[in-house]
Amino acid sequence: MIKEFDIISAVRKRARINKGVLIGIGDDAAVVEPSADAQLIACCDLSVEGIHFRCEWSPPELTGHKALAVTLSDVAAMGGRPRHAMVSIALRRDTTPDFVERLLDGIFDLAERFNVSIIGGDTSKSSGPLFIDTVVLGECDRGAAVARSGARVGDLVFVTGTLGGSALGLLLLQHGYRIDASGRVAGSDYESSGSGDERACFEAMMRHLAPTPRVNEGRVIGESGIATSMIDVSDGLSTDLSHLMQESGCGAVIRRQSLPLADSLRVLATPGSGIIEQDGGPLRLALHGGEDYELLFTAGPSALEQVGELSREIGIQITEIGAMVDGRALFFDDRGMVEVISPSGYEHII
Ligand code: ADP
Ligand code: MG
Repeated sequence: MIKEFDIISAVRKRARINKGVLIGIGDDAAVVEPSADAQLIACCDLSVEGIHFRCEWSPPELTGHKALAVTLSDVAAMGGRPRHAMVSIALRRDTTPDFVERLLDGIFDLAERFNVSIIGGDTSKSSGPLFIDTVVLGECDRGAAVARSGARVGDLVFVTGTLGGSALGLLLLQHGYRIDASGRVAGSDYESSGSGDERACFEAMMRHLAPTPRVNEGRVIGESGIATSMIDVSDGLSTDLSHLMQESGCGAVIRRQSLPLADSLRVLATPGSGIIEQDGGPLRLALHGGEDYELLFTAGPSALEQVGELSREIGIQITEIGAMVDGRALFFDDRGMVEVISPSGYEHII
């Protein structure tokens, strides 16, 4: 049986007191000093075992990493800078101290990477699955937060990085592929088929189990003032773009040939490749698969060059994939053949 006190002291030992933290873990509440002239950004995510993650698929370090990563991604999608986090966990009755240590490793490694201080949380027990709730506090310059609602007809649509890798990773995991303790690809399907590029399988599963939030990219995009609207791709491109459309009151058209597919998807989606084809092919994964945690944003029609400069400056691919248009529908342009897409599915009209 693990004692709550032991967990809190383990967390407290690890927590770094960053600039701006006046009182951290150990008191009734944390006290932090906001930067001058900054506005506060607050968000949280609740990760539930069996719904958002599975302990059979994910080592505890990656479960901890992802629980914090998804919330850091929300701050990035506002164009903000994450500063502090609070982590609440409700442990299963059979949770071991080793599991908790490893879960904390994942959380603290990611927090340190982005200079985020863990300033508190809560520890409890669950009568069922494991729960992890992460709260992140961030900042942006006054009036600089990038909302979902600012896109206008004529704006271009951009996405950072690549799409479909996480959905491919999920598909592999569902088919029995695993990452074993030594970081190698394993699992009955992988071994019996003897096929599949190991590196691509590994990358796809890691993309799903331990996504890297676009923290620096979100901050730079926000500070540049270039984005008229922004969201992170958590539910899938079609669904998240629909959220931007809905909040901004316009439609959008995206071009098939511009979609930046994940390398792992390109490598593994060879003709006749079983599970990807069964699942609707690479395009379906890139368009409707979720959890890539890339940033999807719009910018004025003259912003193309500036976005190119930004992309070079931060060293990350940013692809222009379409534009905002009149109306409320999401159009998909495949070399001149235009279809309406409903979020997560096709509807043929031409
Ligand atoms: P209270 O009874 O007032 O809720 P706790 O004993 O739960 O106090 O918490 C003591 C301190 O430990 C607080 O600073 C709290 O934020 C911190 N804490 C508790 N659990 C966690 C956790 N899982 N992660 C980070 N900090 C935690
Ligand atoms: Mg408490």
